Amino acid sequence: MGYSMEFDGDYGSFFRAGLDRLKDEGNYRFFANLERRSDAFPNARRHTEHGPQDVLVWCSNDYLGMGQDQRVRQAMIDAIDQQGAGAGGTRNISGTNHLHGALERRLAALHQKDAALLFTSGYVANLTALSTLASKLPGCIIYSDELNHNSMIEGMRQSRADKRIFRHNDPAHLDELMAADDPARPKLVAFESVYSMDGDISPIAEILDVCEKHNALSFLDEVHAVGMYGEHGAGVAERDGVMDRVDIVQGTMGKAFGVIGGYIAANADLVDFVRSFGNAFIFTTALPPAIAAGALKSIEILYDAQDMRARHQERAATLKARLTEKGIPFLPSVCHIVPVLVGDAEKCKAASDMLLEKFAIYVQPINYPTVPRGTERLRLTPTPLHDDASMDRLIDALDHVWDELGLQRCPAGDTDSKMLYAAQ
Ligand SMILES: *Cc1c(COP(=O)(O)O)cnc(C)c1O
Repeated sequence: MGYSMEFDGDYGSFFRAGLDRLKDEGNYRFFANLERRSDAFPNARRHTEHGPQDVLVWCSNDYLGMGQDQRVRQAMIDAIDQQGAGAGGTRNISGTNHLHGALERRLAALHQKDAALLFTSGYVANLTALSTLASKLPGCIIYSDELNHNSMIEGMRQSRADKRIFRHNDPAHLDELMAADDPARPKLVAFESVYSMDGDISPIAEILDVCEKHNALSFLDEVHAVGMYGEHGAGVAERDGVMDRVDIVQGTMGKAFGVIGGYIAANADLVDFVRSFGNAFIFTTALPPAIAAGALKSIEILYDAQDMRARHQERAATLKARLTEKGIPFLPSVCHIVPVLVGDAEKCKAASDMLLEKFAIYVQPINYPTVPRGTERLRLTPTPLHDDASMDRLIDALDHVWDELGLQRCPAGDTDSKMLYAAQ
């Protein structure tokens, strides 16, 4: 929960008090109850107490709409028809399917590594790979970017290895921390390419320089980049021409690939090591064959989808330009994610509610602890399937909501909303 609370012997009141506290702060999470529609992305149906409502979704992590792609759906239907619903076991005991092998080979090839290993989610991939490597390497020290995702933090915690936090995207600070440690100890550096709450991208090459200087393993989370960056959708390391210098790349099939599941790709022995010692890989049921079939199809389609990647970037740039015209503040994103800044938990929730109720637009409010207090935001994710009409609808709605709730604006045309961010 992040803070300590009194326990007076009554379990029920303890849980209620914790929830009341969240609600008082405006940080209680309400889920939108959606029914996705495979023919209508990015539109969906939302179920409410008053019946169904058609909504335009502006916050999906199905970044390219592949979760609705007809070819991906058909590949999954065919796999179910041929092989049934589930995998039938853990990978070790009867659950390894030839489609798992095909997908692992495909992922390894995508990232130009020897081997890849599937997990039931990207979260489990980070947790398992980091905890296994850092706990087994004797005296390992982990260096972690201060804005790393919770799945990496939990993996490091579970390893019980010594941990140093380096300032966000700061290779010089990383270098300084490493220089102060025993050069003989094994080192693991964990960071992301695209940071999805701010929309910034790490200086991968510079961080790799520091890793190489200190003989450290590099672990790069490309969850918000695979499918979307690089000539073949292998991520920002591909775009930047440094794939061969990354020791371990981690990704998901749940975001741009539109399905579910996670993976790592690395050299053969390292992957075999995690396969052999990673508990959350070993002791859980394998992904259904149909999931592997869907992911394979999606990766295959996106391998040559430069036009879709270009359209994706164009949509994001257009949205940023449209927000700038209206003076609606957003963080200085350099990627496809556009975080619009509200800066207050309750107002952020109110803005989201108003977008839904008045305009049938769904954008989930992002509040503490996902982002720091005072930086609450609406995280917009334009996809290639958001057309000009859906963009008009969003901009008009935001303009209205900003007036109605008296939210702060930048001077129209001012792109440096970072100043506003710093002032919060
Ligand atoms: C979403 C996310 C994950 C987890 O991936 P899932 O496949 O959704 O479990 C890992 N890392 C980052 C940075 C993420 O945003």
